[in-house]
Amino acid sequence: MSRLFQLSWIMGLAFWSWDASAAWSSGGGGLFRDANNAWFVHNTDSVHYCISIDESQTSLSEEQVDRAFRKAVAYWQHEFSFTNFATADVIISTQTFVKIPCPKDPAAPVDLVLQVGYLTAAQKQEIKSYATYASLAVRTQYDEKNLRARGFLYLAPEKSLSTIQGYELTEDPWSGHDQVLLYWTLVHELGHVFGLQHTGQTPSPRNIMSYGFVEFILQKRHLNLLRSNLGSKAFFQIHAQPQNAPELNCYQTMTSTLQTLQMFFGLPQNWLCFGTWLRDQSLEIWTAPNVQQSMQPVRIGTIYFMQERKEGRPAMTFWIPEAQTVIRKNDYPLLPSYVVRNIKGRYVHAQTGGERWLGLVLDPRQDSPLLNDLRIMTEFNGVYYMDLIKGF
Ligand SMILES: [Zn+2]
Repeated sequence: MSRLFQLSWIMGLAFWSWDASAAWSSGGGGLFRDANNAWFVHNTDSVHYCISIDESQTSLSEEQVDRAFRKAVAYWQHEFSFTNFATADVIISTQTFVKIPCPKDPAAPVDLVLQVGYLTAAQKQEIKSYATYASLAVRTQYDEKNLRARGFLYLAPEKSLSTIQGYELTEDPWSGHDQVLLYWTLVHELGHVFGLQHTGQTPSPRNIMSYGFVEFILQKRHLNLLRSNLGSKAFFQIHAQPQNAPELNCYQTMTSTLQTLQMFFGLPQNWLCFGTWLRDQSLEIWTAPNVQQSMQPVRIGTIYFMQERKEGRPAMTFWIPEAQTVIRKNDYPLLPSYVVRNIKGRYVHAQTGGERWLGLVLDPRQDSPLLNDLRIMTEFNGVYYMDLIKGF
């Protein structure tokens, strides 16, 4: 059993030094070149999965786990549908997922086991620091000819899990809260199954593939924050759709970065909130005096999109083994990609009609929400800014 293991797991938790270990990072060669490959590509029609629950460790029913899992699969199928271009060499998340009973024989063929609340003795031996993780996606076999993996998703025992990294965890993280934390955890781990690595170093409730995302959302102190703000509704092209309302960020006190924004956009002096509202072909600039009044923001001007170029940036790495016959052998296979918008814009102040030109980049790879994904490049007072909102 243990010989079948390849040292390739991606964790939902801290231990960053491991996760980023050179042994299986992309392009590094060596023994683990395929370690980041999606578990299944377009030649695999169906994935057989089963659900195995330690009932002494959670009150979740198999049906609840299955519902959250199917919803998480649907999330990625929808997301990848934007990025599985007809010309792509690697097409992801096209499989039908078929639930089967977990076979008694551990060597029996099942592609993906959802293990809730336990690890086997053999798995514990392979994953020495398992107690540090709230969830894992562990690949145990990889078929280099058919580009097809087997493995399991592990969810830690919620009844014996009360703290991680010194932070108190929400009670019943999997079975409670209408299984919303379970759902987003499965979305994160399935993202790894579909070949995505971590995006961004800072966990946030909206950046679902960020390092430490699962650890972050499971912390008790974040539960209120999560209620309205958990999970990204879109992953690959988060800015393709206009927003429904302005998104404001309020400072506690005046900063030099905020002062630059005030001068550049002509905001009222000493107002502490800065925000944007993405429209179809423009980005509005909004402001408010302070956090207390941020529910009644004011539009101060609009950046009109004059020219736009869309750009795809690969969302994953894929190592093509010699033995395979599924994918055309290109030096640079076309992979599922993020859609980045590069925009040349003209800012017009609503009251004075004053104009400024600037460059905008809307890049879904960065932390959501929009304010963090948006980069404004411009020259102002003799200084060239790569990212005006962040102040450099
Ligand atoms: Zn992860």
